[in-house]
Amino acid sequence: MSDYKLGINYALEQDKKDVLKSYRNQFHIPKDNGGNEWIYMTGNSLGLQPKCTKSYINQELEDWANLGVEGHTQGKTPWLPYHEFLTENMAKIVGAKPIEVVVMNTLTANLHFMMVSFYKPTKTRYKILIESDAFPSDKYAVESQLRHHGFDDREGVVLWEPRKGEELLRYEDLKTILEEQGQEIALIMVGGVNYYTGQFFDLKRITSLGHKQGCLVGFDCAHGAGNVALNLHNSDADFAVWCTYKYLNAGPGSLGGCFVHERHAYSKNLNRFTGWWSHNKQTRFNMRDEFDQLEGAEGWQLSNPPILSMAAIKASLDMFNEIGMNQLLSKSKKLTGYLEFLLRELGEDTIRIITPSNVNERGCQLSIQVKNANKTLHDRLINEGVISDWREPNVIRCAPVPLYNSFEDVYRLVEKLKVILNE
Ligand SMILES: *Cc1c(COP(=O)(O)O)cnc(C)c1O
Repeated sequence: MSDYKLGINYALEQDKKDVLKSYRNQFHIPKDNGGNEWIYMTGNSLGLQPKCTKSYINQELEDWANLGVEGHTQGKTPWLPYHEFLTENMAKIVGAKPIEVVVMNTLTANLHFMMVSFYKPTKTRYKILIESDAFPSDKYAVESQLRHHGFDDREGVVLWEPRKGEELLRYEDLKTILEEQGQEIALIMVGGVNYYTGQFFDLKRITSLGHKQGCLVGFDCAHGAGNVALNLHNSDADFAVWCTYKYLNAGPGSLGGCFVHERHAYSKNLNRFTGWWSHNKQTRFNMRDEFDQLEGAEGWQLSNPPILSMAAIKASLDMFNEIGMNQLLSKSKKLTGYLEFLLRELGEDTIRIITPSNVNERGCQLSIQVKNANKTLHDRLINEGVISDWREPNVIRCAPVPLYNSFEDVYRLVEKLKVILNE
């Protein structure tokens, strides 16, 4: 931590030493009209495109052109089992067993399908606990599930809130809520990494607190997958969902990932919505059999999936697999620590970082509060070629992504911020 240094030379030296430096070249970095690369700090919102993605998608277009329906079995990567080619690498990224993971649908849709199985309200236990600054889509999904089951969508939501004057959530407060109201809470559904503050929660601790009170526990890991060590299996969570277009670079609106803990893998009693893709693969195409539940997370699939989206996911996962999360996280901690170091130099009276300073409680994103700032600051940054993300009332989110952001990116970002703040 303390061996960070000021000045551009330090940044350039670190880039030279970076074992992942060759990967930046494997991405398309958007440029301004003058041909200068943007300082792209929004991989937490939409990850950049790997250059290899095009060839993965083209392969499927060609197989479709040349083989038509035969592509299901004769394609280079046959479409029938295509999702299976994603499972193992995806499981490694989120720390799960292959039986626990499937790529299917999109994020909020998966969240609903998981709640069909894991939100089982009764007259006395029907509430859902979420974090107060949850991503809006998650909040809307939770509220609509309450209404769907005939409950009041305000009374039925229990918020885990930060204390007055704070932004981060405290586990002792969650513990208190659960001790007081745990018997009324059917489901805990929290963002594994909060999208706004960047706080990476201790999933195992939350799960254990919830299970102790008889609640089921699920996580939305949209800001965690490919960004932090999730260890979903060991967390003991009942389910988790995430998307692939943020840190997993699989393109806008690409399919989501879903985790169901192994202990539920063989259950035939869980209520779920099913389709032909939830049916036993061996007999799926007999088409006349009685429904035979497929085991594992795969058993939650409904439809035959969009292969073009999966091809983009495969391109990305192959790259992640080549590098491994450990190597990625090691650079991530260094790069984000460097951003933190440079921001601190700007002085606490202008800038406050609300993301935890403990590297084990965050991923690569830093959420930065700028005193007296408004959205013009964000617009000024864009004019300077810095793509960051603005959240009202006064927070800039910057995510230096270890796969394609450099130490020089971080250095230049802070230099530009400094100039704008001094105007
Ligand atoms: C990005 C994100 C979403 C977006 O949901 P989609 O269904 O993919 O549009 C939802 N929840 C969280 C926590 C997110 O970070």
